[in-house]
Amino acid sequence: MLYKIVLHRCIYIMAYCIFFHVFTVTGQQTTVSKYGVPVINKFADYQLSVRNDSAKTMVDLLKFIPGLILDLRYATTNNFTNRQMYTPAPRRTYLRLPAAGALAAVQNELKSKGYGLKIFDAYRPYGVTVRFWELIGDERYVANPAKGSGHNRGLAVDLTIVELKSRRELDMGTGFDNFTDTAHHSFAGLSPAVLANRKLLKETMEKHGFNKLETEWWHFFWSNDRGYEVLDLPFNYLLSKSK
Ligand SMILES: [Zn+2]
Repeated sequence: MLYKIVLHRCIYIMAYCIFFHVFTVTGQQTTVSKYGVPVINKFADYQLSVRNDSAKTMVDLLKFIPGLILDLRYATTNNFTNRQMYTPAPRRTYLRLPAAGALAAVQNELKSKGYGLKIFDAYRPYGVTVRFWELIGDERYVANPAKGSGHNRGLAVDLTIVELKSRRELDMGTGFDNFTDTAHHSFAGLSPAVLANRKLLKETMEKHGFNKLETEWWHFFWSNDRGYEVLDLPFNYLLSKSK
């Protein structure tokens, strides 16, 4: 009898140790949003996730990619909502480390042709996606917060190409956030020059590992192959503490 009690105690203690080990090694905390998505919203939990997997590091694109131009539309009223969606307006934008590395390679390749990248948006805190949804509420135009978007995970980027000398954008046939079929990659009714510009952006991004979104020529995303969490970290947290 005593032997059985000791054995049970040992099994209990071993199970506790295994649980505690798993918890301390992997266990960043996530909060479940009111739309049912697990979200990291504390900087310490983000840091723990990065300690477990350095690919999850959020990289300041302006520091990481020489010559990058930012035109963060949601930090201004110059966007389809006519509202400033980021308050306070960020002075920086971020992507996870592998996506940032690939974007640097894209910039480098374009530079040899006299071109560079202009970023409209990259990381978008989850709270901003919720605001978009509560304002627009239509999945054709904004991400459903029940899913969490590539932008929320630091994996998606909206961008175009500029001429390095003039800093002028190449003509892509439509502006950013044009929600008509003219913005689709498959739309063929455009001039040869516009089709060539879109092809240059698409092929250079794809060459370096990004995936295109069929309905938006400006939106590209990195694969969520490492279980990148949805983040709701304000830009000023990242600005003060990121690499
Ligand atoms: Zn996008």
